[in-house]
Amino acid sequence: MARKNDEYWQQALKLHRENPVVDAHLDLAAEIHMRYQIGEREVIKKHYLDNFKAGGLNIVVSSVFVNTKDLPDKGLKQAMNQISALLCDLESVRDEVMFIKNQKDLDAVIARDKIGIILYMEGLDPIGMDKDLLWGFRELGVRGASLTWSRRNYLAEGCCNASELKDIKGGLSELGRETVKLMEKLSLFVDISHLNDEGYGELMDMVTAPVIATHSNARSVHMNYRNLTDEQIIKLAGHGGIMGLNAYESIVGADPYEDPIPKMCDHLEHVIQLVGDSHAGYGFDLCDSYYMAAPRLTFDGKRGDCLLNHKEMAEIAAEMLRRGHSEESIKKIIGGNFIAYFRKMLP
Ligand SMILES: [Zn+2]
Repeated sequence: MARKNDEYWQQALKLHRENPVVDAHLDLAAEIHMRYQIGEREVIKKHYLDNFKAGGLNIVVSSVFVNTKDLPDKGLKQAMNQISALLCDLESVRDEVMFIKNQKDLDAVIARDKIGIILYMEGLDPIGMDKDLLWGFRELGVRGASLTWSRRNYLAEGCCNASELKDIKGGLSELGRETVKLMEKLSLFVDISHLNDEGYGELMDMVTAPVIATHSNARSVHMNYRNLTDEQIIKLAGHGGIMGLNAYESIVGADPYEDPIPKMCDHLEHVIQLVGDSHAGYGFDLCDSYYMAAPRLTFDGKRGDCLLNHKEMAEIAAEMLRRGHSEESIKKIIGGNFIAYFRKMLP
């Protein structure tokens, strides 16, 4: 695109190269496992590493995400498969990518300009009704979780899928509340993306540590129950939380025939206007590569990501600079805010 040649694009690239950049949501472990099943190896190296580096990415928060077809029976095994596949794949890129388990690892990643992976669970369906399994998952390196993906489980009610528009009622179960308390005891961060409105309200009333929405946008910019209302954003920020900007088309609300970057920046600007620049970050949820890994399973030929890959991330910073936002503010958004959060939350 022509705009890549302008001064803002160059300035944005420089900001990405010289400052920590975080993507707080990618279904990486799930994709690696899926590709391993069809005989692929070295998935990060083959599908991600070059673009991570070109975009200046430092931290990726990888989810463990289990498909509905594998629940409930195979949930726990799927989670173990995905974590194992991720750990195995990291061996092939060990000089450039490392697994982050604690604050020391986080500092090492930033100091050495490496790429670090933080592991978390998108939906606690794999634990079923047995919350004590979190003790084991923590030992494996899991550092956070959302109670539910968009579907109901024993802990909470999810909001609808990104492609639907449904106001789903029902909040946390008693077990869900106990699980949140245990997560706080184990210092696991809580992600509220995919939780429905009632559950969100109940959860925010009980948490003591700051929570994040790894991949949710603003509902007043685009109406979708996956996005947060202004009231929810204000509450999240009031607790010291951060929202990751989602790049999935139906959550952004971008016109498929127009450049989606301005609309993504509208979401960011809305959050900044509401609560300032200390509560916005990135959680792109790039899904196309995951879908294409299992064409017979889910891919219907229609792409959903507003960014082609992580190399394209700097388009957002360039547009924010073009709109007059300061470098200091953009540094916080591209990674500074999430780095500060993880530094606080990691053991
Ligand atoms: Zn998600």
